[in-house]
Amino acid sequence: MRRGLERVTPGHRLEGGQVLLARAIAHPTADEFLAGLTGATLSDWHRRGKYLLGQLTQPDDSPGGYLGVHLRMTGQLLWLDPKTPVQTHCRVRLWLSDNHELRYVDQRTFGRLWWVPPGVAPEVIMTGLKALGPEPFDEAFSVAYLRQRLGRSRRPIKNALLDQRLVAGIGNIYADEALFISGVRPLTLCDRLGPKRLQRLHSAIREVLTTSIESGGTTFSDYRDIYGVNGNYGGVAWVYDREGLPCKVCATAITRLKLAGRSAHYCSQCQR
Ligand SMILES: [Zn+2]
Repeated sequence: MRRGLERVTPGHRLEGGQVLLARAIAHPTADEFLAGLTGATLSDWHRRGKYLLGQLTQPDDSPGGYLGVHLRMTGQLLWLDPKTPVQTHCRVRLWLSDNHELRYVDQRTFGRLWWVPPGVAPEVIMTGLKALGPEPFDEAFSVAYLRQRLGRSRRPIKNALLDQRLVAGIGNIYADEALFISGVRPLTLCDRLGPKRLQRLHSAIREVLTTSIESGGTTFSDYRDIYGVNGNYGGVAWVYDREGLPCKVCATAITRLKLAGRSAHYCSQCQR
């Protein structure tokens, strides 16, 4: 998603917009959000965990703060012609120079947008940034770190992987896939994982994320890339959304269960 945004938005000036659902704007108010963005130009995009940060520059080249986005379950950012008919679930429209629009569409309305004013650190406004654990590709996210954080924990490993304080950016799909690759059941308690299984889980997390990024991002049914087209990671999933279908390794039917309010998918033969 970040790469998609950085491919198309830099250099475009925000000329105005429309907030169709006020609570889609987490900060400041809807009017202040549009006023803060208008006139600024988008440049680089950064990502931390599941948060996206679009860097803004004011007309006099001074910093213009950031446009912050968290898509949550069903949020989508679309890059399109402003004349494109407005979708039922369209929540925010941002009109950019040269006849472009960055449109935020969200069916379940859990996603949020922020305007971070210049001179203010993003985590002061987007407070969720403060609690994030290390990025999966950071050196700080090591096997030793996992051992230290999980060694005495009695919660299921799937819940730990979804906890953004342990590691940032792993969602439901990635967690299920990484657990399959490492041969660990979602319900396995963290303190039951020995060094070998932690090592396998650590590599599996990086493997799943690498595969997904290379194939165009988190693009299962609820996520779209920047042009609103589904990516192709869904086609290569081992277990996610495959309940009842044969395991691609051993042909056992994939099991689905509810865990921490989310579905977990696993193979009872390949995962222990
Ligand atoms: Zn299997």
